[in-house]
Amino acid sequence: MDGLTEDQARLRDLAREVAAEAAAQAAETDRTEQYPWPMVRRMQEAGLMGLTIPQEWGGPGRSYFEAALVIEELSKACSVCGRIAVESNMGALGAVMAYGSPEQRRLAAGLVLAGDKPAICITEPEAGSAATEMTTRAERRGDAWVIDGVKHWITGGGISRLHLIFARAFEDGKELGIGGFLVVRNGEGDPPGLIVHRRIPSMGLKGMPEAELRFEGLVVPDSMVLRPPGGFARGFGRLMDAYNGQRVGAATVALGIAAGAYDQALAYAKERRQFGRPIAEFQGLGWMLADMSIKLEASRALIWRAARSAGPAGFPDRLAAAQAKVLAADTAIEVTNAALQVWGAAGYSRDNPLERMVRDARMFAIAGGTAQVLRTQVAEQILGRKLPQTRDGFLRAEAARLA
Ligand code: FAD
Repeated sequence: MDGLTEDQARLRDLAREVAAEAAAQAAETDRTEQYPWPMVRRMQEAGLMGLTIPQEWGGPGRSYFEAALVIEELSKACSVCGRIAVESNMGALGAVMAYGSPEQRRLAAGLVLAGDKPAICITEPEAGSAATEMTTRAERRGDAWVIDGVKHWITGGGISRLHLIFARAFEDGKELGIGGFLVVRNGEGDPPGLIVHRRIPSMGLKGMPEAELRFEGLVVPDSMVLRPPGGFARGFGRLMDAYNGQRVGAATVALGIAAGAYDQALAYAKERRQFGRPIAEFQGLGWMLADMSIKLEASRALIWRAARSAGPAGFPDRLAAAQAKVLAADTAIEVTNAALQVWGAAGYSRDNPLERMVRDARMFAIAGGTAQVLRTQVAEQILGRKLPQTRDGFLRAEAARLA
């Protein structure tokens, strides 16, 4: 019914095996808030890091859809492991594989296949949803660029090696547009000018550090500029296309967490007895479980459609990715909460995984495009017109049309 090839089913079985090990450490990762390095090594051994890296660069060259199969299984057991699988297959890695020079591709592939989860650095304290209002600057100085600015909520800050940093590029005082700059961190304080200023305490996904990064005179050679077709002038849009892959990945983690919570709810409802009967016999719970299953199937269908829309060298379709992420993020919040309700007080206890799943599910309606901003993106595409978000945006668009 799921239409997988034998090879894809085998890949999913392998992910399930690794997920069983991930499940055993998920509570500890949440409690200690430590990045799960032993699981990274296990995923690496199993070949689950860098699945989408083309064979030319040493990877297995699998599709976004196949990566999504793996991400869902890992996320059912350990959301942090699922997120590691996203960022070692999509996001910054996808952008480098699509637009990078051969040296940049070789570098990124080598790092990821050796266990790195690259970081993508877009958001700033004053530029969240309005990402194009970023103020981080990259000034050209001869054969290099010097970056100054602050980014926050950078996933993997302090553990990631490869960083894709978005900054406004200036040459001879003239702004060229927003570009992507690749920087590799080898350890504390290295390279000079890339400072992991602080870890941001977060509600869920606690094994994954979120950090504020500061760039103070960070020197990046020109050879490390990621140049999509169209150069700096079209750079932001092209680099954000890579984010459609990341969105499908994030949607899949949300789906996986929800599916994991649903499995727990189903099992508990059959086993827990009250009033002398399994609680599953109460219609109130049966309908909750039915709604959960329907929402999960709908999310999975949109995610698979979006993931399958990516061609061999391209990214998933923008509309399909946004639709999938909106539904999966909302579903994850609803389904994890409903699953906790099925477990009653036991669900509320930190002895059991449901409360962790509720916390872990919360972020997907915020990060990588909020639920509101993505709905606007969907509206733009179905209406076939830009919907400017600044106060004077429509006036300026009209003035440009009349000029
Ligand atoms: P704001 O933009 O301040 O929005 C606040 C509220 O206003 C939201 O509800 C939003 O939906 C609403 N809003 C804003 N504008 C509009 C509008 N035009 N229409 C309707 N509603 C609107 N960033 C990175 O660069 N790299 C990362 O690795 C990364 N990882 C993250 C991980 C986590 C766990 C989290 C929570 C965030 C991460 N982010 C990352 C940042 C994330 O992308 C931003 O949080 C997101 O873009 C929203 O920005 P903001 O939080 O500043 O919210």
